[in-house]
Amino acid sequence: GTKLDEEMTHIRELLHVAQIKPEITGNPLLENVPLLVENVVSMCVKEAVTNVVKHSSATHCKVDVTQLTKELKVTVKDNGKGFSGDRSAEGNGLRGMRERLEFVNGTLDVESGLGTVITIHVPTILR
Ligand code: ATP
Ligand code: MG
Repeated sequence: GTKLDEEMTHIRELLHVAQIKPEITGNPLLENVPLLVENVVSMCVKEAVTNVVKHSSATHCKVDVTQLTKELKVTVKDNGKGFSGDRSAEGNGLRGMRERLEFVNGTLDVESGLGTVITIHVPTILR
């Protein structure tokens, strides 16, 4: 569908206004992905980028969307200050992402140190 593609336009604006250079790679125009999966992924990308704007003090944010045969992989990476990355540091935003992803058999990985990388994997074939 076009939902994630439309979300990318919004994300570009959000980052631009915050003076964070956006770099968007891959293809957010998804093909044959269940609407529920696309909606969940869109929500996750929006929350991840909102976190970059609110918390990271980054100057650069890269968002990549790669559709493989059976799964969708999305990464949101910033060059900001990072955080502990511990589960105990997670608030409602990250918890909500995990819960919704679980619902569509997806996963969320958070790596943080010098900058933060959020990686989302979701199967695009519902079983
Ligand atoms: P909410 O999303 O519920 O409005 P929140 O953004 O504080 O609140 P989370 O999205 O769960 O909650 O994020 C938890 C914490 O992780 C943040 O408060 C922040 O300290 C840290 N964090 C998350 N993303 C980043 C990031 N990209 N750079 C630096 N710190 C981050
Ligand atoms: Mg948040």
